[in-house]
Amino acid sequence: MFDVVIIGAGMAGAVLAERFAASGKKVLVIERRQHVAGNCYDEVDGNGILIHKYGPHLFHTDDAQIWEYLSRFTDWQIYHHRVKAVIDGKPVPIPFNLNTLREVFPSSLADKLEAALLRNFDYGKKVPILELKKSADTDLQFLADFVYEKIFLHYTEKQWNLLPDKISGAVTARVPIFVGRDDRYFNDRFQALPKRGYTALVKNMLAHKNIKLLLNTDFKEVMELRGEQTYLFRKKFKRRLIYTGQLDELFDKKFGELPYRSVDMKFETIDVENFQAAPTVNYPNNYDFTRITEFKQIHPAQTSRTTILKEYPQEYVGGQNEPYYPIFTDEAQAAYEKYSAELAKFQNITAVGRLAEYRYYDIDDVIKRALEVFDALN
Ligand code: UDP
Repeated sequence: MFDVVIIGAGMAGAVLAERFAASGKKVLVIERRQHVAGNCYDEVDGNGILIHKYGPHLFHTDDAQIWEYLSRFTDWQIYHHRVKAVIDGKPVPIPFNLNTLREVFPSSLADKLEAALLRNFDYGKKVPILELKKSADTDLQFLADFVYEKIFLHYTEKQWNLLPDKISGAVTARVPIFVGRDDRYFNDRFQALPKRGYTALVKNMLAHKNIKLLLNTDFKEVMELRGEQTYLFRKKFKRRLIYTGQLDELFDKKFGELPYRSVDMKFETIDVENFQAAPTVNYPNNYDFTRITEFKQIHPAQTSRTTILKEYPQEYVGGQNEPYYPIFTDEAQAAYEKYSAELAKFQNITAVGRLAEYRYYDIDDVIKRALEVFDALN
């Protein structure tokens, strides 16, 4: 009856469902939650403001193909994300850049540090903090220690419960020191939000006559892996299965749980028109939350109140909270490899996406990956 079964209606699942359906295949999408769009899910709240239920998701890409692909399913609201971090009580732009230098240091010191940066790096260069810390230039050492202590150290301890040098360097390199004056959080060529939100975008992708969507359904209610065979509604299913859930769950966690970091997302209504100095303000050094996002500054709304989100990082406990960030330790990687080897025994299953591939994918990365998987399977 179905040519392809897809577990999960997040971005990876939606792209693959859409592609297979458009190529004439009958697709069944099974989603555990009551809604599509995975962690990109957004909805209008009681204050009339479009909020991102699973934390701020800001689309940005340099890849024109991805931009064009998504543009088939949505109009865009051009949006360039800006973030400030509170340093010594003052919100200043991050990624830390040449403007930030002037906001935190007296001008003579800022001049000296700017000269040191430009002596060592080309204008426009992005320098990961862990790289800057290795600099032999004493001015840059001073700057690196300052930025490390004020922006990275305590934020990363809160976010990951690990020191910055104990997680993959790629994580802190997401927010480099920027040798330039561009205050935007991302520099990509395309930066925008789906005009009516991510949920509407994904609904559009799934609105194809060849796609059947089952919400509120754990894949284990309809599927089973036995031997090296997959079963759908108790019958052998030899066609393509795309799995976008947690890889350890597919195998009943038989090699142990893959560790994740979770976040308690606490939304609050504040009785003021505008709450803070930027759409997202990071609090590296105080409080138990890492950052506050004010959604009205992302999706403008004419309301007298505002909705904010405070993110409190916490340990992930299966069944109790959401698995947001894979924790890249050697042990976790080894466990992931075991699950991967197990998966390879099933010729008809392809694992795609942040959870199934245990990767820290941005939205554009996951779309690119899903499009590549589709091409490889055709
Ligand atoms: N980070 C930090 N201080 C900040 C912002 C980011 O230390 O003010 C580090 C932290 O380790 C974080 C990582 O950089 O987990 C990536 O930050 P990003 O904003 O990309 O995280 P996401 O939005 O994906 O949660």
